[in-house]
Amino acid sequence: MRLILLGPPGAGKGTQAKLLFDRFKIPHISTGDILRDEMRENSDLGQKVAKFVKNGELVPDEIVVEVVTKRLSKPDAQDGFILDGFPRTVNQAEALNQALRKQGIAIDLVLYFETSAEICIKRLSERRICDKCAAIFHLTNMPPKKEGICDYCGGKLYLRDDDRPETVKRRLEVYQNQTASLIDYYKNSGKLRQVDGDLEANKLNSQLLETFAQESLTG
Ligand code: ADP
Ligand code: ZN
Repeated sequence: MRLILLGPPGAGKGTQAKLLFDRFKIPHISTGDILRDEMRENSDLGQKVAKFVKNGELVPDEIVVEVVTKRLSKPDAQDGFILDGFPRTVNQAEALNQALRKQGIAIDLVLYFETSAEICIKRLSERRICDKCAAIFHLTNMPPKKEGICDYCGGKLYLRDDDRPETVKRRLEVYQNQTASLIDYYKNSGKLRQVDGDLEANKLNSQLLETFAQESLTG
């Protein structure tokens, strides 16, 4: 299946994408993860995007569109993918449509994670990310077995720069101003299904699986 996860920062898209990957083995394509990898490697791309990411602003459309089209052309994405954090503007959504149309494929569903701002803020401030495999933990909801260490690969857990309160506030504004209009955009195409992003991760995962069953999407 070909999915888009849409919703504010802190809605739990990354957590669900990882659970869906475990179950269906469809690649999880997170533009945020890709950009952070590039920043860590200090590549040309990483240097170009760092100031946007650190300040909670969107990276220019041309840059992310190129990153995503390149990623979508890899062999593992040919039978399905989960897009997390892309598209984030109507321009990006149109570029994606065009790229998929060229390959004769289309998105099956857009899952919209409706989530309250308080919950997003709470989740982001206690979120910790593995610096090696990008696994996501939460100090109270999903704590690692050993403090500060990734359960899966032993990497170090860190608080993302842009998960600090000032930047979180900005990211939520950016979401409202630039991304939320995609809800109507995908509603109009009949692809949008709303799920409850306030739910705890396992319950939300069940809701996603129910949605797939209703749509007869099996993997
Ligand atoms: P979250 O979903 O928690 O906000 P992400 O990891 O998806 O975080 O994104 C982190 C940052 O990466 C964004 O604030 C933005 O700077 C940049 N970014 C990620 N995806 C996109 C995109 N599709 N368009 C523009 N910028 C993006
Ligand atoms: Zn790890």
